[in-house]
Amino acid sequence: MIEWNEMHLGIRDAMRRFIAAEIVPKLDDLEHGDLPPYDILRKLMKTFGIADMARARFKHQIEKAKAREAAGEPPAPPRELRASPEAANEAAMQLIPTIELCRYSPGMVTAMGVSVGLTSAAINSKGTIRQRERWVPELMTLEKIGAWAITEPGSGSDAFGGMKATARKDGDEYVLNGSKTFITNGPYADTIVFICKLDEPGVEPRDRKIVSFVLDKGMPGLTQSKPLRKMGLHGSPTGELFVEDLRCGRDRLIGETEDVKARSGAKDTFTMERTGVAAMALGIVEECRQRSIAYAKSRVQFGRPIGEFQLIQDKLAKMEIARMNLQNLIFRQIELAGAGKAMSLAEASACKLYAARAAMEVALEAVQLHGGNGYMAEYRVEQLCRDAKVLQIYGGTDEIQISQIARTLLAEA
Ligand SMILES: Cc1cc2nc3c(=O)[nH]c(=O)nc-3n(C[C@H](O)[C@H](O)[C@H](O)COP(=O)(O)OP(=O)(O)OC[C@H]3O[C@@H](n4cnc5c(N)ncnc54)[C@H](O)[C@@H]3O)c2cc1C
Repeated sequence: MIEWNEMHLGIRDAMRRFIAAEIVPKLDDLEHGDLPPYDILRKLMKTFGIADMARARFKHQIEKAKAREAAGEPPAPPRELRASPEAANEAAMQLIPTIELCRYSPGMVTAMGVSVGLTSAAINSKGTIRQRERWVPELMTLEKIGAWAITEPGSGSDAFGGMKATARKDGDEYVLNGSKTFITNGPYADTIVFICKLDEPGVEPRDRKIVSFVLDKGMPGLTQSKPLRKMGLHGSPTGELFVEDLRCGRDRLIGETEDVKARSGAKDTFTMERTGVAAMALGIVEECRQRSIAYAKSRVQFGRPIGEFQLIQDKLAKMEIARMNLQNLIFRQIELAGAGKAMSLAEASACKLYAARAAMEVALEAVQLHGGNGYMAEYRVEQLCRDAKVLQIYGGTDEIQISQIARTLLAEA
């Protein structure tokens, strides 16, 4: 794939119209007025028929899963990868809205991605048919807001090793304790995937089984904090979760067994999250690049448009190189989907590392190119600069991506 086709451009233009009408007028409220993004996102899903498509896809998946169960066959992976042009189109249909939304609000993409992507995918991929039917449809369509909670005050990069949250078996039930922090959608979530360690006396804490439970808002013992104040990404509320002696039946344990491979499930989630960052970065880079070109042509200093100065041209050239590289990464993702393949964790890490750094560098240069105006909210590049920073932190920091890539390289024969 070397360029967007007519259908892709049609979706892009429709997204741009939606953003101009529904998001741009509310950007200040999202940025400074603590407007939660969910109603706008629901409207987006409705306008583009995303919710209906998700419902239809889920119905089809569940019917197949039930047929396998009735035939006594083992469950198939819910997301079967098959080579098909439809898979490529489906990937493009997810990536284009991400790119376009990130030109204005990377936070909204984060809020939607965590709910629709991470939380519902975690239940859909490892849950039983009963659990999938109970929670996934409303998460996929954003009727309910989801949160996926692994990070704790004492464990971030070493998420599994340092994890303190526990599930203690008590008869037929589990008693959950622990706290989670920096959780996207945490303050508003209706459904939470709470990842913790099974309390296994006699087993070293680092080696204990990782299990995931689905919690619903309002359960006794669950407290959701107010949104935390943060540097940027205001389109995405972030909060803490506190769980104290919360009792759960086995029906809330994902997979309804302690032996579900939660570590590998979380790794699948990391791969998905990391791959998605390229599209987010491309949106930020495209917007910064476009605004910088316009400013370089119109801003006059020393009697000349600043675009005539070589040091400004260097910035524009670097922005274009980042845009081209990110665009190619996106086309590769679409090609891979069409070929029925997915990125490995190491490739996803490389993709995220490059994308996050490129977005940050371009956004910083865009602020610099705009001079004092770049530091002012009105010119919008300052928001994109604050938002871009998070791409180097969440979903695994740059340093963690580097070690993931290096570990894979050093393991090569
Ligand atoms: C806006 C936002 C939203 C988030 N949303 C979610 C969410 O929805 N769910 C969730 O579970 N989490 C979420 N997170 C948490 C995020 O994934 C973590 O912040 C991230 O993984 C880093 O963990 P940490 O903050 O504990 O930093 P630490 O792990 O304490 O790292 C501190 C510094 O040490 C470095 N470091 C750590 N280990 C190594 C090493 N081995 N080698 C070299 N350097 C190292 C790090 O790179 C970093 O620079 C979110 C975070 C933010 C900021």
